[in-house]
Amino acid sequence: MLQYIHRPKWGNSMKTVWHELYDAAKQKLDPRVLSPFIDAGGVAAAILTDKGNVYTGVCIDTCSGLGMCAERNAIANMITNGESRIVKLVCVMSDGCVGSPCGACREMLMQLDPNSPEIEILTDLTTLSTVRLGDLVSDWWGTERMKGMSQ
Ligand SMILES: [Zn+2]
Repeated sequence: MLQYIHRPKWGNSMKTVWHELYDAAKQKLDPRVLSPFIDAGGVAAAILTDKGNVYTGVCIDTCSGLGMCAERNAIANMITNGESRIVKLVCVMSDGCVGSPCGACREMLMQLDPNSPEIEILTDLTTLSTVRLGDLVSDWWGTERMKGMSQ
């Protein structure tokens, strides 16, 4: 777990929180075969919580559909550490490009917290373009039930 500090760590004023998250995820990229059935580390994700903490995760690809995406692994790491509200998400593919969460991860993110539609997801590291999760998951089935929760 990293603590995001609201000033550049290395004195580079051009380094944004997005670069911090990208670097945190990229450092976890390490494609490797764990067994004849499982490989891991080909995709990595970093999430920033409302408390300013950064959690990371890597994909775990398995036979028999038991695997887990990097985003959901990062979410599990966050929940294990007692948090559940995400404000920013970055996913880094094996080629170093920024990726987008799959449908299963989008769904889990939506179910996680009433503010999840406001999660910002990086779509381009060069332009720092982002998209709101709520725009990726429009007309979400669980909106009415989620309204019962306090914001
Ligand atoms: Zn996914």
